[in-house]
Amino acid sequence: MEVSRNWRLQSQRYRMEGLRCEQCGTVVFPARAHCPQCAGESFAAQALRGLGEVYSFTHVHDAPAGFESAAPFFLALVRLDEGPLVTAQLTDVEREAVHIGMPVEMVTRKLREDGERGMLVYGYKFRPLLRERLPDKAAALPARVRVPVDAAVAA
Ligand SMILES: [Zn+2]
Repeated sequence: MEVSRNWRLQSQRYRMEGLRCEQCGTVVFPARAHCPQCAGESFAAQALRGLGEVYSFTHVHDAPAGFESAAPFFLALVRLDEGPLVTAQLTDVEREAVHIGMPVEMVTRKLREDGERGMLVYGYKFRPLLRERLPDKAAALPARVRVPVDAAVAA
């Protein structure tokens, strides 16, 4: 029961929605008014798998207001498999392990606490891709889908 409940939540947490330009097919994330390739203005929804690799990164010691409790942290440009570059914190990673080209996957984590109202703000971060998913990125999503099925059979 716990596994399947967590699995349903996990599937929601992994959902990442971008836009696909209807003129040239470029995938855009986050949403913007014009396609960066062709300046087109017509888009269709495009689900993103949340998988990619570190394109560039920096180690942040002096965090901006609201992010002090997270410092120091890695801020990375991640090239998603579908093409867009996104800026996000890295999480669950050893300092020595971070490198350009490191395969990563999106996770939902607490980003900061709103000081005045004590509200927690959640958003996406990226963590190292688990080792068994490395050989074939295309197989990564089906591999995750198989987890609860196997658990159900075992129970
Ligand atoms: Zn376009």
